[in-house]
Amino acid sequence: MRFAIATMGCKVNQYDSAMIERRLAAAGMERVEFGQAADVYVVNTCTVTDRADSESLRIARRARRLNPAARVLMTGCLAQANPQALAPSAAVDRVIGLGRLDDLVRAALGEDAGGAKVAVSNLRKEKIALDSAGVTLAGRTRAFLKLQEGCDRFCAFCIVPFSRGRSRSLPPRQVLAALDELDSRGIKEVVLCGVQLGGYGRDLDPPLALVELLELIAQRSRIARLRLSSIEPDELGEPILKLMASERRFCPHFHLPLQSGADEVLSRMRRPYTTGYYRKLAWRILELMPDAALGVDLIAGLPGESAQHFARSMEFLSTLPLAYFHVFPYSVRSGTTAAKLAGKVNPGEIKRRAELMRSLGARKRRDFLGGFQGARLDVLLEDICDPRNGKLRGYSRNYIRVLVDGPAHLKNCEVEVEATDVIGDALAGTVVQPWAKSGAPARTDRQFASDRHQARTSA
Ligand code: SF4
Repeated sequence: MRFAIATMGCKVNQYDSAMIERRLAAAGMERVEFGQAADVYVVNTCTVTDRADSESLRIARRARRLNPAARVLMTGCLAQANPQALAPSAAVDRVIGLGRLDDLVRAALGEDAGGAKVAVSNLRKEKIALDSAGVTLAGRTRAFLKLQEGCDRFCAFCIVPFSRGRSRSLPPRQVLAALDELDSRGIKEVVLCGVQLGGYGRDLDPPLALVELLELIAQRSRIARLRLSSIEPDELGEPILKLMASERRFCPHFHLPLQSGADEVLSRMRRPYTTGYYRKLAWRILELMPDAALGVDLIAGLPGESAQHFARSMEFLSTLPLAYFHVFPYSVRSGTTAAKLAGKVNPGEIKRRAELMRSLGARKRRDFLGGFQGARLDVLLEDICDPRNGKLRGYSRNYIRVLVDGPAHLKNCEVEVEATDVIGDALAGTVVQPWAKSGAPARTDRQFASDRHQARTSA
């Protein structure tokens, strides 16, 4: 039997799709591209905006046209949050909520005859265990391990607490076992992910803080590089920063959703921090880890964001030492508090603000990359070449894409690279050591980092 998966939305959905793929392959099915004829189509939906909802149904109809006899299974956030938006459609055979992988496999294999069309649990009431296998999304170099699912924060613009349910965590024993398994598969880097990663462990009995889990991982796991996925700024405290600064295997890369650089807008968004807090945090990170990459999520045009708020936000952003921006033009999501807020910004203006933010982000990106020209970076080369130029491609610890020429046997190795040029969104360089340093960076690099830190500070 052949199956195809269409994945919408964010990295968490990509992770879930990789898990689905793994389970269906283990059940003896073969994956094909979504445009090909398949026996089963899985649509992993997103519900971040009203537009994403209609897109999910459009993809279901496309699957039905590709093979009218196929089973079309809808899962993901829209299936979970609003199954009734999907179930009446003739293009849809089953709507299966999050955390129900066994049901999804049974439905794919056609073993659920006579079952209900909708199988969705109430994730705000029921506690559904997380599946603990780490997955590689491409190649065999980096893997993603979901430690935490759901969210308890209820930001005004966000549907996730409804679609993904309350925060729940993978017990530490399972985290360590999954890391060992990834290590035995030769994985060199693991991205520790969660929807609200900073909420890790509050639901465990006894509770465990994220920093305690990270300490355990640092002591017990052999994975060479560990990276945190997005973490809320107010949930990233000094103990985590100190641990990451002292344990070299933690990559100095922080994705800290800011959302707006104006305090009034942050408060409308129900974000529990101020720009002053965020600024202090950003500079504290650079003080401890001068090469760190700081990335932000931003929303342009939340209802009530005035021209003055936006101008202040841009001003604030321009003073921060940021490496990249992810900009999202605000789009209505029914069922959220923001959908009912007064002061809607017109779509043309939202687009304009998003573009201005993106161009500031592009400038920041160039400055960040330029700061590493001439520096030496430890780069984990992936086991696929860059399709555009055939060069070996990898990521530095501080999340810079780096391109080098080199022999194929360096794939899946961490090498030391001298960065020479900025090429678009990446650095090009030369391999100076076919292996990376272990332990603390050499003094010359520390000196280099400190110079760069000073340059970033004065800029
Ligand atoms: S922290 Fe806020 S934005 Fe992030 S998932 Fe939770 S509610 Fe949504």
